[in-house]
Amino acid sequence: MFPPLHPDLRFHNYASYLRRRVGGAAVRISVDGGFTCPNRDGSRGTGGCLYCNNDSFTGAILYPGLPVEEQVRRTILAPGRHRNARHFLVYFQRYSNSYAPPGELERLYRAAFCHPGVAGIVVGTRPDCLGPEVLDVLEGIGRTAYVSIEIGLQSKSDAVLAGINRGHTVDEFVAAVAAVRARGIDTGVHLIYGLPGDTRANFVETAGFLSGLDIQGVKLHHFHVVAGSPLANEWERGRVRVPEYGEYVSACADFLERLSPEVAVLRLIGSAPPGMLIAPLWEKGGREMARDVAAELERRGTWQGALR
Ligand code: SF4
Repeated sequence: MFPPLHPDLRFHNYASYLRRRVGGAAVRISVDGGFTCPNRDGSRGTGGCLYCNNDSFTGAILYPGLPVEEQVRRTILAPGRHRNARHFLVYFQRYSNSYAPPGELERLYRAAFCHPGVAGIVVGTRPDCLGPEVLDVLEGIGRTAYVSIEIGLQSKSDAVLAGINRGHTVDEFVAAVAAVRARGIDTGVHLIYGLPGDTRANFVETAGFLSGLDIQGVKLHHFHVVAGSPLANEWERGRVRVPEYGEYVSACADFLERLSPEVAVLRLIGSAPPGMLIAPLWEKGGREMARDVAAELERRGTWQGALR
C-alpha cells in the first residue's frame, strides 16, 4: 500500500485528499441555497426519487432559510463547533444546487465566500442541471477557489434509475462528468447500495466503471427508508428490503478493492435524523463504518484498488 491510501484505513480517505487540495484540514459546512429539484417541480418529472425526503439528509444545515452569507457566518462561529478549524468548504446540499438561472447561481455561490476561512464550495446536484452556462459560473469561481461538483448517479442501471423515478439515465451522468472535467472542476459521485431492483454485482462493478471516468471522489450510501418518502409506504407493505450492516460492510470492501486508489472516498454511510429514519436501524456512524470496512480489508489482506 502506498499514498494516497491511508495506512490504517486501507483506502484513500477524504480528509487527506482535502489536505492536499486546499492546503490543510478542511471542515464542510452545509447550507440551504433555497433550491428546488427538476425531478419534483415538473420540468423533468414529478414526485421525485422514490427514496427522497430532503428533510432527512439535510440535518447538518443549521440555519436553513437564512441568506447564505448569514448561514455561513453563523455556522462557522457557532459556539464550540469549529474552534480549531482554519479552512471551510461550503456545501450546497439541499435539493439540486445548480438548478437556477446562472445569475442567481453566481450570487448564491459567491455569497459563500463571506468569511476569510472559506476555501471553496461543494455543489451537490443532478446530471441534468449542469449545462454550459452553469459550468461557466462554476469554472469562473474555480479560478480563485476550490470548487467540487457532486453528481448523483445512485445506480449504474437504467432500469433501477427508472424504477426509482430518478429522471435521468446513466449516459446523461457520463456526459455530465465529461462536461465538468472539461472545465477542470473536481467531480464527486453519489452512489447508493441496495436500491430496490439493484444487485450487489451491479454495485461492485460500478467501482471499475467510475474508475474509468476521471472522477476525484465517491460517496457511498446504503439504501435506507425515511419517513415521508414514497418508499416508506412500500416498506410498510413489506415490499422492499434494506441491507444488513455486515452485508453492506462486505459490499463496500468489494467495491473499494475495484476502485482506483486515486479516487477519494468521501463517505461510506448515509444518515438521517432520529425520528425520520424508519429502516435499517443500525445506529452506526461514519467513523465506525470506516473502521469496520478497514478491518474487513485487513482481514482479506487487500486495499482500495487491490483487485483492479
Ligand atoms: S433525491 Fe435529489 S434528485 Fe431525487 S427528488 Fe430528491 S432532491 Fe431531487
